[in-house]
Amino acid sequence: MDFTFVSDHLALDFSATLTWRASYPIELLTEPADLAAWATQARLTDHPGRVTRTALERARLLRESIYRTAVAAERGEDAAVADIQLIRECASGPQVTVALKALGEVERRGGIEEVLSTVATRAGELFGSDDRHLVRPCAGAECTRLFLDRSRAGSRRWCDKLSCGSRANATAYRRRKAAALPSEAEALPPTVPRDA
Ligand SMILES: [Zn+2]
Repeated sequence: MDFTFVSDHLALDFSATLTWRASYPIELLTEPADLAAWATQARLTDHPGRVTRTALERARLLRESIYRTAVAAERGEDAAVADIQLIRECASGPQVTVALKALGEVERRGGIEEVLSTVATRAGELFGSDDRHLVRPCAGAECTRLFLDRSRAGSRRWCDKLSCGSRANATAYRRRKAAALPSEAEALPPTVPRDA
């Protein structure tokens, strides 16, 4: 599986491994191997090793604590004490290491425990700093991804311009076209609404 990294923050990308949360949630971390693949694609470690079911469960709990805390930060609300505690506890273990191998090449070492500690540490750095005020929800319909708006004007709206952004633009374009060209719309053959 190819995971998406568009949030401008590792912890927010991790929180998006449960997608479309409000409408039809899709769990992307269904198997231990999915977590291993995420860790590698996130470039946290070259060899995550064997991932247990217990580690997967722990990863999902951490992810949900990160998501809820990010939403609280975005809304300017208080975060749940239990979520803060879990993020703090997960961050206390050993972290992944990055060692230079040659010019343009590094070795990233750590198993899944180190990976989760590192994700929790990054989450702690985000929520403990002023950057937490830059957390935004994607404006895409039904998209529940969060991202950091680092644009100078504070005007970033989409998790990903190429997916959510272009989908929204295509919808707006169709609406404008339908409004501007009623005769063309009337000339179309009648169709049965798909949702009927
Ligand atoms: Zn989106």
